[in-house]
Amino acid sequence: MKIACFTRNSVPGIGNVEADGSIVPFDLSPESAARGIASLLEIGSPSSLPQLAPIAACEIELRAPMPRPQRNIFCVGKNYHEHAKEFSASGFDSSAASGVVPKEPIIFSKLPETVIGTGQPIRIDASVSKAIDYEAELAVIIGKQIRGATRENALDFVWGYTIVNDVTARDLQGKYSQWLIGKSQDTFCPMGPIAVTADAFDPQSARIRCLVNGELRQDASISDLIFDIPRIISTISAGITLQPGDIIATGTPAGVGIGFTPPRYLVPGDNVRIEVDGIGVLENPVVAYGNGA
Ligand code: MG
Repeated sequence: MKIACFTRNSVPGIGNVEADGSIVPFDLSPESAARGIASLLEIGSPSSLPQLAPIAACEIELRAPMPRPQRNIFCVGKNYHEHAKEFSASGFDSSAASGVVPKEPIIFSKLPETVIGTGQPIRIDASVSKAIDYEAELAVIIGKQIRGATRENALDFVWGYTIVNDVTARDLQGKYSQWLIGKSQDTFCPMGPIAVTADAFDPQSARIRCLVNGELRQDASISDLIFDIPRIISTISAGITLQPGDIIATGTPAGVGIGFTPPRYLVPGDNVRIEVDGIGVLENPVVAYGNGA
């Protein structure tokens, strides 16, 4: 199933996206729908929910599938070979001691309040950072609680998938050895446009692309991940109990702004478009904000 979280006339809803693009809403209270996929995880199978009359896509405004995750978003750093090389060569890699290609997954996190939906602006405050970069990533949505997943059973705990843009202030990422500040600036986690259940998406056969102002910057097969999704889940869950609704961003391929000489950072007026086959298009404008506007 493809699941859209949306507002219609400012009222939150969740629905199934049909082949023709129309949306068949589930019969949920606005309070429940406002929590996005998290509410479906508590209910169980979304296909068991009563549904309302279909509505046209033009009548709704999409929201992030998980508008406010209950916990930080788990992220994987340097998880495509060519990106690991470009990042290590940038001089901003405060994880350089782990080697160009890490021997174990690099796991960090972003604050839940960074999440925005497709169409919402990524805010750049030039008084805080002048080196803001995009990172197109496939994200995993955990569906069941698990501690100690194995590589063999890890995918049993995946509810589905979405796209995130792991927006990063490179100067802050390099300044502080922990990445949280550089990764967690307000609006730094565009997510969407929708979520796709695990039975309807195969990460091994999908490609991920990122275009800035229509120019293709990133284009890779998700099967090129250094640490695949089962390995990531088994690594995190070895001692951290994963919870339903946890989000794991799996890493970004080569072609980020820092990989160019000179670097090509985002500036106000830019448009960042991320596409994953089978999920859709996550697109966000970039705007000036705050003291740096
Ligand atoms: Mg990333």
